Amino acid sequence: MQDKVKLVILQTGSTGLGVFTLSLIGEGDDVFVFEGDEGWVWEIEEEKLQRCLQVGIDRYIVPKPHSSGWYINHSCSPNCYVSRKNQIVAIRNIGPRDEITMDYSFNIAWEGFKMECRCKTSNCRGMIKDYFSLPENIRAARRKYTSEYLLKMS
Ligand SMILES: [Zn+2]
Repeated sequence: MQDKVKLVILQTGSTGLGVFTLSLIGEGDDVFVFEGDEGWVWEIEEEKLQRCLQVGIDRYIVPKPHSSGWYINHSCSPNCYVSRKNQIVAIRNIGPRDEITMDYSFNIAWEGFKMECRCKTSNCRGMIKDYFSLPENIRAARRKYTSEYLLKMS
């Protein structure tokens, strides 16, 4: 594992700002910690909620403004996942100069969550929804990349 991953916030093609790596990251490496205050859903301002990381039923981490957690975009073919509650880890070798992405659906229990996807990857699902509305086969295939609290619920 390398010492420190160097990340920058840059404009993406279709999703606004995103997180990019300047370093070469190896499969299984820690990329960054999704840092912020943890709180109950009813304590969090609604406009911030879509940027939060869900870590339990009604529990969310609000990312520090302009941190990597604030800007990390979704992809239906992500190169990272959330491990150990809020550690972003590489699924495969990444970069340098690649965008860091994660699949939001594998961290969301929020029933009825819906966000249009603009990842433009070949297996794009079109709509980002909560974990429990994903097809069974997709959930099974990506079990390893699913938030721990969701696995405990299913
Ligand atoms: Zn997509």
